[in-house]
Amino acid sequence: MPDSEGCVIVGAGLAGASAVRELRERGFLGRIRLIGSEAHRPYIRPPLSKDYLSGSADRQSVFVDPEAWYAENDIELLTGTAVTAVHPAQHLLAIENSAPIGYEKLLLATGSAPRRLTIANADLAGVHHLRTLDDAEALRPLLAEGGRRLVLIGSGWIGMEVAATARTLGNEVTILERNPIPLANALGDELGTVFAELHTENGVDLRPSVVVESIAGADGRVTGVVLAGGEVIAADLVLVAIGVIANTGLADAAGLAIDNGVLVDASLVSSESDIYAAGDVANAYHPVAGMHLRSEHWANARNGGKAAARSMLGEEVSYDDIPYFYTDQFDLGMEYSGFGPLAQGADVVYRGDRAGREFIAFWLAGGRVVAGMNVNVWDVNDAVQGIIRRANVVDPARLADGNVPLDLL
Ligand SMILES: Cc1cc2nc3c(=O)[nH]c(=O)nc-3n(C[C@H](O)[C@H](O)[C@H](O)COP(=O)(O)OP(=O)(O)OC[C@H]3O[C@@H](n4cnc5c(N)ncnc54)[C@H](O)[C@@H]3O)c2cc1C
Repeated sequence: MPDSEGCVIVGAGLAGASAVRELRERGFLGRIRLIGSEAHRPYIRPPLSKDYLSGSADRQSVFVDPEAWYAENDIELLTGTAVTAVHPAQHLLAIENSAPIGYEKLLLATGSAPRRLTIANADLAGVHHLRTLDDAEALRPLLAEGGRRLVLIGSGWIGMEVAATARTLGNEVTILERNPIPLANALGDELGTVFAELHTENGVDLRPSVVVESIAGADGRVTGVVLAGGEVIAADLVLVAIGVIANTGLADAAGLAIDNGVLVDASLVSSESDIYAAGDVANAYHPVAGMHLRSEHWANARNGGKAAARSMLGEEVSYDDIPYFYTDQFDLGMEYSGFGPLAQGADVVYRGDRAGREFIAFWLAGGRVVAGMNVNVWDVNDAVQGIIRRANVVDPARLADGNVPLDLL
């Protein structure tokens, strides 16, 4: 008979790790099991496309907590263990090659997985994805020496970051993008162009508006990428970086409400009362935005995991952090806060020097700031979040005027 004690967290990524830490820090003394299908204890992914990939950060720096922390805090960490089914009515989990286990409260923190190409030869040797530490460790030595021809398919955040890292290491980098401007879906055309120019100036061959038709290979290894029309872009390595898909399979099969992720309310409770979701997999109602949001970013995994833990302990939770993320590419560092869906098509107001890549951009919808991005300007993101949260109707001229303190807007 399986036990049914305590809290079980499925997914040992940042959201899961943050939840177990919060449970203990809030004084929960019961049983905690953190189950993850990867072989590693929880680690953070942002360095996998940046300083860990480049070799400037060491392996230990990516882990969320030291190995000993789990035993010291009486956390049962089951790595290399996949949960294969959730049975809400019985409060039971099926585990691959192991006996089922019960739970009182369950957190789904199963994250997301890279979208795959379905074209010919997409699984040839030399075609990579980048999600896990193992993925990064496969790629890192191949880029380290420079001189390789890397072709990136997709110019989202991960594609652009890897391009910058690989180029800085002295590799030849080509980015293939089906849209006319990279990152335009996230930032709009003008700001996508800032990133396009940054890459072009640094010697990346950016090829917008192309359609990838197949992968070319010889003797089981990739040799290039074939575009519609027949052009072949020669490659020693290909990285497919065309976005991620939320890992909703368990929740879906268990009958939980799914819509672009596991649907949860502002207290991160799913359609089943004892099942919670946080991190990339959760599509959570955001009380400030007034809509459900699914965020595929580090801060949401950390803060959402903590909020879910408090909710599991019966605290009143209204998870209303303003979505936040950052990127580092070449000499450009930026932080973005706000509600991407509300910023679509909004007016953009700039404060600072856009051409010199030192500025803050604000997205104004209905006269209110719904998102803001500081580029090579630091220690302002809290103030940007304050403007978004206050939701005042603001004068665009004052927003653009660097002499007006952000706290007054
Ligand atoms: C290369 C890279 C760079 C990034 N850079 C940035 C950045 O600069 N800034 C930023 O804000 N965000 C960045 N992100 C995104 C950020 O890392 C993610 O949003 C974050 O990892 C999400 O955390 P999570 O815990 O929700 O999910 P994940 O990190 O995906 O972890 C979920 C875990 O659950 C496991 N799992 C899934 N199903 C099961 C199952 N059935 N049984 C057991 N285990 C299961 C998975 O194996 C995985 O280990 C980056 C991501 C990548 C891949």
